[in-house]
Amino acid sequence: MTRSLEGKVAWVTGSARGIGKAIARALAEQGASVAVTDIEGDIAKTTAAELAKDFAVKSIAAPLDVTDAAGIESLIKKIQTELGGLHILVNNAGITRDGLLIRMSEDDWERVLQVNLKGTFLCTRAAAKVMMRARSGKIINIASVVGMTGNAGQANYAASKAGVIGLTKSAAKELAARGIRVNAVAPGYIATEMTQGLPEDAKTEFLKGIPLSSVGQPEDVASVVTFLASPASDYITGQVIRVDGGMQM
Ligand code: NDP
Repeated sequence: MTRSLEGKVAWVTGSARGIGKAIARALAEQGASVAVTDIEGDIAKTTAAELAKDFAVKSIAAPLDVTDAAGIESLIKKIQTELGGLHILVNNAGITRDGLLIRMSEDDWERVLQVNLKGTFLCTRAAAKVMMRARSGKIINIASVVGMTGNAGQANYAASKAGVIGLTKSAAKELAARGIRVNAVAPGYIATEMTQGLPEDAKTEFLKGIPLSSVGQPEDVASVVTFLASPASDYITGQVIRVDGGMQM
């Protein structure tokens, strides 16, 4: 059977584990070569080795902090040299530093904005240059439902994800003429290490607001990203697709 991403090269940030890893696996399952990058380089190596073994694709790993502009430039060269191009970018790396607004430190505000928003901008800018020359490409940003609704205790995170949505729509408009599609996926409550640490009462409260009555899995996000990366979604750009069990309608 032909795989929908055969011959494509994808780069997924923050993909050593969690949602990013599930995305890297889903893209590889469809035949894409995948660059696995993460601030945590050793786990990224293990993930890349798994992809190559499980799906018979080329996969490379590199340590990369998405706030490091110079590191991003050299990584793009490495991807082009070792994997032969760059067709799909998934901006997945993201962090939380939760706290009530009046007690939030400038440091917690800055770091979340740096990683989630500036990191997405820096990777998008670098990848778009390559994709513009090729006159095609797919950029998929992982936002969050709280970027649309806000959330008490997450002013920094919600602001960063609202920013990601604005960046997605602006980039979609700017890059459409060069054949590049830019979309966002907004997950709701997904079972990963990021949400594992939530207090039990907060988890119960979240579940009450989910019509499908269950927590999402990383694979639920990955399958939508794979659709957005594939030719099946070529007429879609500038959109935010929620993957939240109906939390918001
Ligand atoms: P995880 O914390 O499980 O994984 C995130 C990965 O990104 C980790 O491997 C982490 O490394 C890495 N990372 C952190 N900072 C950087 C950085 N500066 N540069 C590169 N990599 C970095 O998170 P999730 O898988 O849950 O989240 C993935 C994305 O999905 C994020 O953008 C998140 O905001 C978004 N999301 C998640 C939801 C959820 O319910 N889980 C809901 C909505 C959105 P390390 O472990 O070393 O920190």
